[in-house]
Amino acid sequence: MKAPKLLLCDLDSTLAVKWQPALLPGRAEALALAGWPVAIVTNQGGVHAGYHWRKKEPERGERYPTVESLRERLEAITAALPQVQAVYLAFYVGHDEFELPPERDDVRFRLAGGVHFHGSWSPGWRKPNAGMLCQACRDFDADPREVWFLGDAEDDRDAATTLGMPFSRITEAAWEERFLVAEWMKLEAGS
Ligand SMILES: [Mg+2]
Repeated sequence: MKAPKLLLCDLDSTLAVKWQPALLPGRAEALALAGWPVAIVTNQGGVHAGYHWRKKEPERGERYPTVESLRERLEAITAALPQVQAVYLAFYVGHDEFELPPERDDVRFRLAGGVHFHGSWSPGWRKPNAGMLCQACRDFDADPREVWFLGDAEDDRDAATTLGMPFSRITEAAWEERFLVAEWMKLEAGS
């Protein structure tokens, strides 16, 4: 079996409980058994929505994530998933009714443990667009056809399809330790 050069994973409802630092059951064990390099690609349009609402209705704005709160959440998640080497985040909310902040350079830093954090306000990064997936492929020097993407949403599938990237749609259900290896073997056998 030829292993994927890179495993891309959506975050919410794929690896972690939506908006929480808690992992879904079996993720840590299955990623550890597979042993492949992993990067997370996640739409976090709440950052853009929060910027909008903090100016209009501060109380409402408090409900949304910030770069800092996402840093803390991802510190916890990546500490529990040592295979994760990079996290890509799309901050754009998905429509142009909310103003973008004047300062919207890409945000890049290292999480504890050296994990690469890269956030962008670019609309082209937000799934179903493929910008974020392309950035991961460039950083890992991988052809999209050598990458396997796992996600729970139609937007995840559409982003992968745009690039001809192998994709599997999954749910929040618990993973057996061999889940990833078995699914990849099935996909390889069928291709
Ligand atoms: Mg999701």
